[in-house]
Amino acid sequence: MAECNYYSFYALAKISDPELLYEAFRQQIAPGHANEIEIEVFEHSDNRWNRLTPSGGLDQNVPESIVATLEQEFGALDPGSWYYDSDIGGWFCSYKPLSTKHFVLLVKSSDPDKLIEEEYLQFLFHFYCHQLQMLQGTYRDALTGLYNRRAFNEKILQLLDRSSNHRRRAISFSPSVFVMLDIDRFKSINDSQGHLLGDEVLLILAQLMTDSFRENDLLFRYGGEEFAMVLMDITTEQAQQSLERFREKIANHEFPNVEQVTVSIGFTKFDKRLSIDELVGQADNALYYCKTSTRNAVHGYQELLDKELIPAVKTPRTPSAELT
Ligand code: GH3
Ligand code: MG
Ligand code: MG
Repeated sequence: MAECNYYSFYALAKISDPELLYEAFRQQIAPGHANEIEIEVFEHSDNRWNRLTPSGGLDQNVPESIVATLEQEFGALDPGSWYYDSDIGGWFCSYKPLSTKHFVLLVKSSDPDKLIEEEYLQFLFHFYCHQLQMLQGTYRDALTGLYNRRAFNEKILQLLDRSSNHRRRAISFSPSVFVMLDIDRFKSINDSQGHLLGDEVLLILAQLMTDSFRENDLLFRYGGEEFAMVLMDITTEQAQQSLERFREKIANHEFPNVEQVTVSIGFTKFDKRLSIDELVGQADNALYYCKTSTRNAVHGYQELLDKELIPAVKTPRTPSAELT
């Protein structure tokens, strides 16, 4: 069995996307086995199985024989199971890490005469899962399970194409609308019902968010009782309607021991020419307008700006920071 040294753990833990672990897995885990073991990662999203490519892309042309095994063995099974397929000659290991997506790792020997022993397979898989759990702790908020502030900074920079990591995965969806959301008069909920019940409200709200928006939308706990979202492939009008429906859903939801919880929501177009501060500033200005008018409302930055109800977000930029 290959040695698993501390350096390997350290190198893997620095990689922020689970799909990039795939490559690290191949490079770091077992140098002695690098030419003997083939690893592929399949992701179930948008109702189909896709293969993550070594360069970080998404390949939709998964061979029929593999799709059949994936459908048959992992369609209904809980993630966390594994299965040896003698026709394919490899182990399928299923898991569900940081998102609602379902992943399956295929580990097989490139030499058909050499079988991978179950013990070694377990070692590889546990190592891999361990890294994902570490990432989960690093990038997820412990209370709500949403992405945390650290993930926010990294993911928004990636979406704004400002990330220093150039080997990004080629994503097939694009960010359209950026949203900031803040619970109204949350302090009074804490004051009257206690911090624990306040925490429960945060948790339920996060669950309602997860249920209400789409799989590819990004949901963050920005801090305290503030949340942020990136909605993908949606027009501003559709986003406004969807956010309005969500606002209503919260106002009508029966939270335990709290008469009513309402939220204020500000949003703006996800414009890649903006800096992260400008993007947040625009949505925040719209949110602030909700807070100073009625609360329990949804407002868009551009509309408020056109009506001269809020100030524009200043966009001071040095020539070197100018986008081309
Ligand atoms: P507004 O409508 O203006 O947003 O009023 P607010 O009371 O929601 O806003 P304020 O910023 O005055 O208070 C936010 C409160 O959120 C204060 C803080 O105690 C509470 N809070 C922040 N993080 C947590 C948390 O993790 N759990 C709980 N229970 N409360 C939290
Ligand atoms: Mg707040
Ligand atoms: Mg608040």
